Amino acid sequence: MSKPQYLTGDKAAIDAFIDKFDVFLFDCDGVLWSGEYLFPGTAETIEMLRAKGKQLVFVTNNSTKSRADYKKKFDSKGITASAEEVFGSSYSAAVYISRILKLQPPKNKVFVLGETGIEQELQAENIPYIGGTDPALRRDIDPSDFEHIGDGSALDPNVGVVLAGLDFHINYLKMSLAFAYLRKGALYLATNIDSTLPQAHSLFPGAGSVGAGVAKAFGKDPLALGKPSQAMMDAIEGKFKFDRSKTCMVGDRLDTDIRFGIEGKLGGTLAVLTGVSAKEHFLAEGAEVVPTAYIDKLGDLLG
Ligand code: PLP
Ligand code: CA
Repeated sequence: MSKPQYLTGDKAAIDAFIDKFDVFLFDCDGVLWSGEYLFPGTAETIEMLRAKGKQLVFVTNNSTKSRADYKKKFDSKGITASAEEVFGSSYSAAVYISRILKLQPPKNKVFVLGETGIEQELQAENIPYIGGTDPALRRDIDPSDFEHIGDGSALDPNVGVVLAGLDFHINYLKMSLAFAYLRKGALYLATNIDSTLPQAHSLFPGAGSVGAGVAKAFGKDPLALGKPSQAMMDAIEGKFKFDRSKTCMVGDRLDTDIRFGIEGKLGGTLAVLTGVSAKEHFLAEGAEVVPTAYIDKLGDLLG
């Protein structure tokens, strides 16, 4: 495997790299910003790429926010972007359910482990759902729950899919319901399976860790629809119709972003060192996932 090219400070190499691509797929957290902190030069880099006529798509695994939520965030950070250019893992899951699975009654409902981002994207695709942020499920399990989940009387007979994303209110009751639906034949999907969630300069359990408890009980992992799933790449390609050989994935995380680009056979991948993965991870002898190039921070693309 060839060594990745280090671009920071090398104007000629940066220009040549940018010229190779018509389309840039951008990871968001860890590349554009970290939580609420906008990295210096982000907005200007996006402007520079737009001025060069590049097509941009913002591909995030954050299932807690919808495309509309992201549009608001872009606006608040002074970054020019439309909701149409955002492709989040919640949207990816909703598109997969409505356009690939095409659920039909009586098994057309989704049981959600997750937040409003998932609910909004399901609503936008006219997919009925239960669970999610329903306050009735934010409580301890009690003996009658065991009885009524066990005999099926507490279950909605129309649930055909369990969809797991990051749920800040995960509890034993919701896990038991998800498990019961799976045992009754529902398909298990996940918006994304990130093991960790970067927050406040530290790491917390990610969406993959939330869904893992149910997967352990069920004995089967969910089909994930965020990066690095190629179902997401296919859906993005279906929407934006790009030439993969002229497309570059920009990301901070080797196991999601860079793997996503490599497995999608994109023309290139660019690792940005302001997020989860460090250069030691891909420069190490025998590293499995190696980007085409890397930079210290996105703003370095300004040269
Ligand atoms: N999932 C959640 C809930 C998040 O809050 C984040 C980052 O904020 C992510 C996943 C990772 O998002 P990205 O793919 O943009 O790095
Ligand atoms: Ca990221």
